[in-house]
Amino acid sequence: MPEFETHEHDVLVIGAGGAGLSAAIAASAAGVKVGVVCKSLLGKAHTVMAEGGVAAALAHVDDRDSWRVHFSDTMRGGQYLNNWRMAELHAKEAPERVRELEAWGALFDRTKDGRILQRHFGGHRYPRLAHVGDRTGLEMIRTLQDHGIHQGLTFYMEQTVVTLLRDGGRIAGAFGYDRERGRFRVYRAGAVVLATGGIGRAFRVSSNSWEYTGDGHALAYEAGADLIDMEFVQFHPTGMVWPPSVRGILVTEGVRGEGGVLRNKEGRRFMFDDIPPLYKDQTADNEEEGWRYCQGDKDARRPPELLTRDHVARCIMREVRDERGSPHGGVFLDIAWIKEKIANAPEHIRKKLPGMYHQFKQLADIDITKEPMEVGPTTHYMMGGVRVDADTQMSTLPGLFAAGECAGGLHGANRLGGNSLSDLLVFGKRAGDHAAVWAKSNPAGPVNGALLDEASREALAPFERTPSANDAPFQIHSELQDCMQDLVGIVRREAEMVRAVERLGEFRNRLARTAVVGSREYNPGWHMAMDLKNMLVVSEAIARAALLRKESRGAHYRDDYPAKDDSGGMVNTVVRQGGDGSMKLTPEPVRAVPAELKQIIEEMK
Ligand SMILES: Cc1cc2nc3c(=O)[nH]c(=O)nc-3n(C[C@H](O)[C@H](O)[C@H](O)COP(=O)(O)OP(=O)(O)OC[C@H]3O[C@@H](n4cnc5c(N)ncnc54)[C@H](O)[C@@H]3O)c2cc1C
Repeated sequence: MPEFETHEHDVLVIGAGGAGLSAAIAASAAGVKVGVVCKSLLGKAHTVMAEGGVAAALAHVDDRDSWRVHFSDTMRGGQYLNNWRMAELHAKEAPERVRELEAWGALFDRTKDGRILQRHFGGHRYPRLAHVGDRTGLEMIRTLQDHGIHQGLTFYMEQTVVTLLRDGGRIAGAFGYDRERGRFRVYRAGAVVLATGGIGRAFRVSSNSWEYTGDGHALAYEAGADLIDMEFVQFHPTGMVWPPSVRGILVTEGVRGEGGVLRNKEGRRFMFDDIPPLYKDQTADNEEEGWRYCQGDKDARRPPELLTRDHVARCIMREVRDERGSPHGGVFLDIAWIKEKIANAPEHIRKKLPGMYHQFKQLADIDITKEPMEVGPTTHYMMGGVRVDADTQMSTLPGLFAAGECAGGLHGANRLGGNSLSDLLVFGKRAGDHAAVWAKSNPAGPVNGALLDEASREALAPFERTPSANDAPFQIHSELQDCMQDLVGIVRREAEMVRAVERLGEFRNRLARTAVVGSREYNPGWHMAMDLKNMLVVSEAIARAALLRKESRGAHYRDDYPAKDDSGGMVNTVVRQGGDGSMKLTPEPVRAVPAELKQIIEEMK
């Protein structure tokens, strides 16, 4: 057996975004030795890109808000497929986690009387998002990493984990390589927390960074843990559409929260044309009322631009399909119009949305204080993920925990904006707390040398093969992105998804032949070959789960089954690896909501 550089920790956290750092801080505070592995440099995890804010019922701007309203908004947004216990814990604990972040040094925007300011976001009944302009993720990651460093965490940066290690029926650590030199590393641990984020790079148009290749989802699946709700991929309604080089980059929902409106090429606010029954009573029926809502009028109802993301994205697609869209295949998002309402509008926009102002000025030569933006849907967030116990975040594999975007359950069929950052804080901490407890009574077990040998041989195999342009990693990736975008995208059809599953099989065969040239030292082709393996696992899970769900619900829209099926559809789709290595899918009835929580949902309707 070859010798590998080996590190030993009680708890190993894979991922240094909001969820990973929260987990690592909590585990370390519980007195165990914690290591954190991440693909990029510390501070560069995807969380840094988060813009609009973190949802927590602090009730600073509207005192009618409470955990009960947040809970019922989250359940309604998720079309009641959510794990109700996670939604309950999330709503109850988010305010405390935000205050904790503030105590650790995060500087949020303030109300006039000096409290944390909160803004409107889609699907939230009251202004609920604590924010720092439109750069909330930067403040969150800065605060967590400063706190973590002072707590003595050990970081392994620019390392990619490629396999989880098991000791019989429980976790024993992870195996990976350092991206700079290409050398293998073994991380032994009693407990492992997956906090690897999302999957968006499997699609052509995405707001996600290069790191989002579904590694945690695939690592858990390959190690024998269950995944859940993989059909639910969120397409954010507003990504940039022009110029082509920036297509998919996010335009925060904060623009609409500050009064931005969507119009088609005829200048019509088309969102008023289609308000879902579930939201009819909570939605403004005229433009004036919508504006008053954005200005904090407690008697006004939300403008239809602030309906849930799944619905807004589909309305935009309809305008584009019916040739009422903007010149480059989107619609218009206009914040400049608020100059009709407030005196210092340009200054106000630059202050509230500094990132958006610079993004459009620099990338598209558009001044958003004067002109509308062109926007369209972009692959943004993964609701599905590793199936976890709500209280502990432990997966179905003992000792393996998951938190943040790579874990499933909280958001059901659709996530509300702002509910991810709060998810990271609440369930990152819970994962860390419980991983520490687990590790104290389950020290790092032995590592199977033959498995390490096999994992390193498999990782190096592409260097042994003869290159062919058709099977090159970047070629396969490009075709995979088109396949997922075109065949399993925002509008889904049976025949297309069947075709996608066939194509994914072809990609797998081609990946088994893929070759890379050059050395192991910072070799992007080699990195892509390994990332592709994960993207193919998650893509197959998405396509198969989407085929299985024969209805439209939340982010999953089927042209051939456009209606919601409340008798057959109230199931979660569980994905696991069968004994023969093939992917098995099982619909499981959603767990019944207890009477007291049901009552809250009824009261808030
Ligand atoms: C542009 C944009 C704006 C957003 N704005 C908001 C917002 O305002 N509010 C909100 O609630 N949500 C927002 N979101 C969503 C939110 O930012 C993400 O869901 C969240 O940050 C994910 O955090 P995480 O901790 O789960 O993962 P990440 O922050 O992505 O961290 C993942 C970590 O895992 C590491 N990793 C991955 N794979 C491996 C591997 N194989 N080996 C080792 N390390 C690995 C990565 O290097 C990284 O450190 C936004 C998303 C985008 C794209």
